[in-house]
Amino acid sequence: MSYPFRSVEKKWQGTWQKLNAFQANTQSTKPKAYILEMLPYPSGRLHMGHVRNYTIGDALARYKRALGYEVLHPMGWDAFGLPAENAAMDNQVAPQLWIENNIAHMKQQLQSLGFGYDWTREINTSDPSYYEHGQKIFLNFYKRDLAFRKESWVNWDPVESSVLANEQVINGRGWRSGALVEKRKLNQWSLRITNYAQSLLEDLKLLTGWPEKVVRMQENWIGRSTGAQITFASKNDDFSLDIFTTRPETLFGASFCAIAASHPIAEMLAANNPELQEFVTSCLQMSTSEESLSTAEKKGHDTGKKIRHPLLPNTELPLFVTNFVLMDYGTGAIFGCPAHDERDFEFATLYHLPILPVIQPNAEPLSATQAYTGAGTMMNSQFLDGLTVEAAREKMLNFLETKTLGQRRTTYRLRDWCVSRQRYWGCPIPVIHCQNCGIVPVPEKDLPILLPEDVTFEHGQNPLDIHPTWKHVTCPTCQNPATRETDTLDTFFESSWYFLRYCCPQSPEPIDAETVKTWMPISWYIGGIEHAVLHLLYSRFFTKALRDGGFLNFDEPFEKLLTQGMVCHRTYQDEAGRWLYPSEVTSLNDQLVTVERHHPVIEGRSEKMSKSKKNLVDPVDIIETFGADTARLFTISDTPPDRDFDWSYEGLEGCWRYLNRLVRLKESLDQYQSQENKETPAASLTLRKTTHQMIVRITQSYERLVFNKAIAFARELTRTLEEALEAGLANHESIRECFETLLLTLNPMIPHLTSELWQQMRGSDQDIMNTPWPQADKALSAIDQVTIAVQVNGKLRGSFDAAIDSSQEILQEMALALPLVQRDAEGRTIRRVIIVPNRIVNVVV
Ligand SMILES: [Zn+2]
Repeated sequence: MSYPFRSVEKKWQGTWQKLNAFQANTQSTKPKAYILEMLPYPSGRLHMGHVRNYTIGDALARYKRALGYEVLHPMGWDAFGLPAENAAMDNQVAPQLWIENNIAHMKQQLQSLGFGYDWTREINTSDPSYYEHGQKIFLNFYKRDLAFRKESWVNWDPVESSVLANEQVINGRGWRSGALVEKRKLNQWSLRITNYAQSLLEDLKLLTGWPEKVVRMQENWIGRSTGAQITFASKNDDFSLDIFTTRPETLFGASFCAIAASHPIAEMLAANNPELQEFVTSCLQMSTSEESLSTAEKKGHDTGKKIRHPLLPNTELPLFVTNFVLMDYGTGAIFGCPAHDERDFEFATLYHLPILPVIQPNAEPLSATQAYTGAGTMMNSQFLDGLTVEAAREKMLNFLETKTLGQRRTTYRLRDWCVSRQRYWGCPIPVIHCQNCGIVPVPEKDLPILLPEDVTFEHGQNPLDIHPTWKHVTCPTCQNPATRETDTLDTFFESSWYFLRYCCPQSPEPIDAETVKTWMPISWYIGGIEHAVLHLLYSRFFTKALRDGGFLNFDEPFEKLLTQGMVCHRTYQDEAGRWLYPSEVTSLNDQLVTVERHHPVIEGRSEKMSKSKKNLVDPVDIIETFGADTARLFTISDTPPDRDFDWSYEGLEGCWRYLNRLVRLKESLDQYQSQENKETPAASLTLRKTTHQMIVRITQSYERLVFNKAIAFARELTRTLEEALEAGLANHESIRECFETLLLTLNPMIPHLTSELWQQMRGSDQDIMNTPWPQADKALSAIDQVTIAVQVNGKLRGSFDAAIDSSQEILQEMALALPLVQRDAEGRTIRRVIIVPNRIVNVVV
């Protein structure tokens, strides 16, 4: 007999809905907690990654609620973007409709998993009631010169027929399409995120609740470097080059200058040099990600122009246009010092340029086959000779400034964020182009600018641009005919501030500062590591930009961040190499075969669940077969939430069996109440001690979000309870306390079954959600300590305190960690470790 999960889960989901159980009350006097999972794209179906992500968030939100917090735990939809447009083309369905249907379906799936969201705050980013406020924010940014339009080289995704931000180019390819990105020169809207480069970098130190890895990734992406900007004149004085260098001390080792293919001087020189023009064009078509540049072959074209060395009147440096200098970085121009830079060395070797060493290594001779980039003493450098590299850098910086040849400068790798997209399904940029007035912001009373619904989709065309009437308007300033901006905003614009709108979804202004202050910053933000740079950096920038615009008054949006691991599954292929779904594979005489024809199956390694490799498990199947609680428990029971986790049918069944054990426990408990005559006070006390020690351990696990540990402790407590029931020596108060503790501590993870069993225990008017988190009694939860003596070859070497009945492994580990023991054992082999439990560890060397 197994428990009737279908009726139980349906009953409780109905109850929660009827009670509006998860509606957050801003006016509440309780302490506030804001728990948020990154909002999903409404693709139409939940996948296992979602289930894991939202189970983590829901367990945390329910736990905080039990602790006495007023919890804000909302959900919404990141609904703009290309897939809806593609679906519109493929299925002849309007994006609006496609999105609406998908949302309805996914919302129903979320509810069937029992996630406790405050649906009164639901956001759909493609709904005018939301993006109207995004348009207001855009205009505010425009007014403050944080949004601007200019012609620039941009990343062009030929598959999406649209530009991409630098953050969306990964290994030279579009983040979504995977197409090789090209460079194009276009008039585009950008946001001045670079104004915030320094504070985005500095405030990383406030983010002590973030994984170190993510902080490092942001730090690298912002990429601060300090150095000098030096002006180099051409031989004929017909132009000059501003060059940024982080190594001004190597200036006497310069042997060439190089500029980016998109540098204005490259453009100027190419105008009457067809060969150079051809080279420039080929460079511009190339992918320009830093990763691909560092591995690609270095190419250059000698312009024939000579540049004067700023400190050596008789030295002229050849000027190259190259494929490895980026216009995006520094000034788009460098001087090459091949002796002390690997990239310059490679280039100089290829083009037979002089290699002039200026740093003598301290310990080794200079190599003729590679650049030397380490510390050393300056040489061949006039007034720098004999100095260390550090001292020479400082002296050169002072010298350049005194002689007004250059100045100190800090640059960042971070670029302004290009937000223009030549797509239909995005938020219209609320400006009008007028021949008389230039760029005219749409007056606020005319917002929102809505998307037209009668559009045609043709490949490579922006539907807004080819729409017969939409863009033709009257200029709000001079009343002459004018045109609307037809670019729409990058979808990352909407997702950069949605978490603020959840706090005040009804506010007539984008953000209600008072209300937002009540909830923000977010206590825990949970989502994938793939957003470590893109979304998280943009959201931090928005928060700072909105703060400076008077919209809010804090510096960082996310106090703690959890990047959850992926859900993985083994892959299967038939003999022809075709991928098979796990449901198409079965086991026959210990061999994996196809279900249908029993053909051999080749098992591959466990990988992230993906459509292309078919190693998918549909959450719907799991919910229908085992119920929501089993699905929830399984996705968080095996590994810490920040690690990848391997799907296994055995693990899933294990969780299902565990839920049934809890049901049986409840039944045994009911019968137990008649056996009072066998009770002993000692057995009751032992059980109570274990219960309270487990409260401490499980609570600590929740605090650290290691749900797998919390579940392991709960299972241990379950075993203890089963044994106590079997022995029949503990009184029923202690038995009942133990079981209720189990229900209360498991409730955030498996809310349906625990709610049901709680009601069976306490009566039909009782709701476990209204019961506070169990508090450990200090006296009962104290773990008894013993002092363990440690000997080496029978001689006393020290002692340590350990919990009573600690395992042999723990005692050995603690003994070997003592300094005196380590000293005695150094250089010798530990032959044996003899342990007398609770008393002595003797190490024999
Ligand atoms: Zn006008």
